[in-house]
Amino acid sequence: MTLDDILKEIEGAETILVLAHENPDGDAIGSSLGLCLALQNMGKKAEVLMSEYPANFAFLPGIENIKKAASFEKYDMAIVVDCPDIKRVNSEYIQYFESAKVTAEFDHHNKNSMFGDYNIVNHVSPACAQILVSSFEYLHIEITKDIATCLLTGIITDTGGFKNSGITAETFDFAGWALTKGVNVSKIYRDSMLITTRTKFEAQKLAMERMEFFDEGKIAFTYMTKADDEKIGIETGDHDGIVEMGRNIVGVEVSIFIYQRDDGSFKASLRSNDYMDVADVCMMFGGGGHIRAAGCTLEFPLEESKKAILNEVRKHIQ
Ligand code: 5GP
Ligand code: MN
Repeated sequence: MTLDDILKEIEGAETILVLAHENPDGDAIGSSLGLCLALQNMGKKAEVLMSEYPANFAFLPGIENIKKAASFEKYDMAIVVDCPDIKRVNSEYIQYFESAKVTAEFDHHNKNSMFGDYNIVNHVSPACAQILVSSFEYLHIEITKDIATCLLTGIITDTGGFKNSGITAETFDFAGWALTKGVNVSKIYRDSMLITTRTKFEAQKLAMERMEFFDEGKIAFTYMTKADDEKIGIETGDHDGIVEMGRNIVGVEVSIFIYQRDDGSFKASLRSNDYMDVADVCMMFGGGGHIRAAGCTLEFPLEESKKAILNEVRKHIQ
């Protein structure tokens, strides 16, 4: 089985690089750090390359393993987590993936391009971290309290705090087991889901104030521009979670949040509740994701971007 092969490759490697998608969320960070700690416990020189991450994850064990610049010119192995395609990795780091002697990936996105030499992809898993839990269990790789803290953070954030439809009995089995290991589940939940900085709060306030509803309230839409970000003094991760606000309103099937990037384009985040496949919608713009959570880039000015995404979404409204 592929997992046994991956273990053999890990055993034969000395230096191992861990990568995840750009704009990392809790699952990307938790999965990267959990894997990195496990590799280090196996005696490997392992590190994570990430250009930036939201400050509320700084509490995670092994956070110092996140580096902005590579410590090695070439790695024996590169493992990518929570990422459907190598194109979603920070472009500066792709060279290290390409020059690694062997590559593997663990992922749960439904449109994964199977870009590794070894690919462990399970698109019904609610979090990449949950795939790592079952993989570690299968391979008898010890899940220490620190590793469990990182992986549970991935699971809690990607399941929206144990509430999204993809949760399984294993989700709770692992959370229960982590509690018995002494993992501080309350702290993880609070730090990764509830705590908000003042700038993030101001961003949410503005986005909420601006929210518009279309198609008898089935579509919620809001946006932020670069000028808004500058005025608020936005930090990495401050846009995260805004799209969830629209989704929780009665009657809303799809929530859309778009925010402007430095190059002027708009990053769109979509969430649906009951029937809309938002990954399909986002694929029309070269993006993707999951059925109920997806994203893409809109290469137009504000009004045109808004029109383009609304038009596409409307084709899927019932
Ligand atoms: P978010 O809206 O939180 O940024 O992303 C929701 C989901 O969609 C995540 O699984 C994320 O990886 C995926 N996603 C977001 N933006 C893109 C994109 O531009 N391309 C692809 N392929 N997936 C995306
Ligand atoms: Mn994920």
